[in-house]
Amino acid sequence: MNRDSLYIGGRWVPASSGETIAVENPATEETLAHVPAGSAEDVDRAVAAARAAFDDWAATPMAERGAVLGKLHEALSARAGEIARTVGLELGAPLKVAKAVQAGLPLTVLRGYADLAAQPVEEETAGHSLIVREPVGVVGAITPWNYPLHQVVAKVAAALAAGCTVVLKPSELTPLVAYLLLDAADEAGLPAGVLNLVPGTGPVVGAAIAAHPDVDMVSFTGSTATGRAVSHAAADRIARVALELGGKSANVILEDADVTKAVKVGVGNAFLNSGQTCTAWTRMLVHRSHYDAAVELAASAAEAYRTGDPFDESTRLGPLVSAAQRDRVRGFIDRADARLVTGNAPVPDKGYFVPATVFADVDPDSELAQEEIFGPVLSIIPFDDDDHAVRIANNSRYGLAGGVWGSPERALAVARRMRTGAVDLNGAPFNPVAPFGGYKQSGFGRELGVHGLTEFQQTKAIQR
Ligand code: NDP
Repeated sequence: MNRDSLYIGGRWVPASSGETIAVENPATEETLAHVPAGSAEDVDRAVAAARAAFDDWAATPMAERGAVLGKLHEALSARAGEIARTVGLELGAPLKVAKAVQAGLPLTVLRGYADLAAQPVEEETAGHSLIVREPVGVVGAITPWNYPLHQVVAKVAAALAAGCTVVLKPSELTPLVAYLLLDAADEAGLPAGVLNLVPGTGPVVGAAIAAHPDVDMVSFTGSTATGRAVSHAAADRIARVALELGGKSANVILEDADVTKAVKVGVGNAFLNSGQTCTAWTRMLVHRSHYDAAVELAASAAEAYRTGDPFDESTRLGPLVSAAQRDRVRGFIDRADARLVTGNAPVPDKGYFVPATVFADVDPDSELAQEEIFGPVLSIIPFDDDDHAVRIANNSRYGLAGGVWGSPERALAVARRMRTGAVDLNGAPFNPVAPFGGYKQSGFGRELGVHGLTEFQQTKAIQR
């Protein structure tokens, strides 16, 4: 592995300029490493390598591509400890979360795509037509910092299984874990040019990928504002775009819910990864009959979240990823016009920490309830009946995830009415093969499982 290089055409190569990006440890504010700041010229080289590799990779039988992904999974699994440590350092994820989610989840997803590709499904027919699925082409993958390996693997594994080749730009804040993936790809013998890495900034490398005439599809995860810019750039050449954007998800606790469990799990969901999760249930909607109890329960659950060194086993809340992100989150807290229930716990002097913060009596139209804060901030809102709960839940320009707690039939009826891409009933766990993606300004396109794979395919009808 060579962190001062790019990975293009199956080799570690120098960047076109000597400029670098410093990667910071957000828990200590110290510089961890430097990576090259790629340029538009580097993107050209990477896209050319991906294009040159495309025909052979697309023509490789899917089961063989699955076998290659299996080898990649093996090589990456051998690095699981290093992945958790790296994400702990560059993101500040507490070790337990780093091991289980930041390292564990992408390995599960990669294994899933290796298995899926190993058993390709029969081709469909419709009347006298054969329906053929083919890879979309060269994919540009632009990813954020909050789940830095998972977001990459969700795109790369699906795209490679489908027969696409990829140019990857990870977040400039957390590029180091992507180097571990490319290192594993190199060891696993991925054919040259199938997966290429160009680290760098969004406005330079990301924008060059989005606007590149030879990139057939851009798969983007990040903020809605940047997703809009990527979409505009791709629209000029009618390139396909998949956008996984922000969220402001509602956790609806109905009259007949197990309130204690609903609040405990709800708080855990909202504060996972320091609240830097696009699916976080940041709005807790509680039936008025349970409201006071829920506020009290949420406060005491939040107060148990110790901030501190991510490598200390007792830490549950790491820092936010950067000074800018911490300042942004503090801005929302300072401007909030609601009842602060908890949020003044001491935090370390060094590092970008924000304590677990809970607001009650939040106006559903306020900034607190409408904007994606991306920090450990929970808003609690009362409702009168199920219809009222649905109206508040859907009062958002986002629609990515959500939860409903109550008797199974009633909870399902409410879930069906929520304008959102996923809903968990009574704390049902995350499913890494279920389609993942948004309604409204949370984006379009789906990742994970079969739906994630077909996102990277074209459909052809051959009449016989
Ligand atoms: P961005 O949307 O800016 O970053 C996501 C990715 O897009 C990064 O790789 C970034 O590069 C890249 N990028 C930035 N500008 C461009 C551009 N013009 N063209 C192409 N790519 C570009 O998110 P931020 O890091 O700025 O986070 C801001 C907010 O976005 C957060 O507070 C949160 O609300 C939301 N967010 C949501 C995420 C989600 O999963 N839904 C994930 C991350 C953020 P670079 O490396 O320079 O950052």
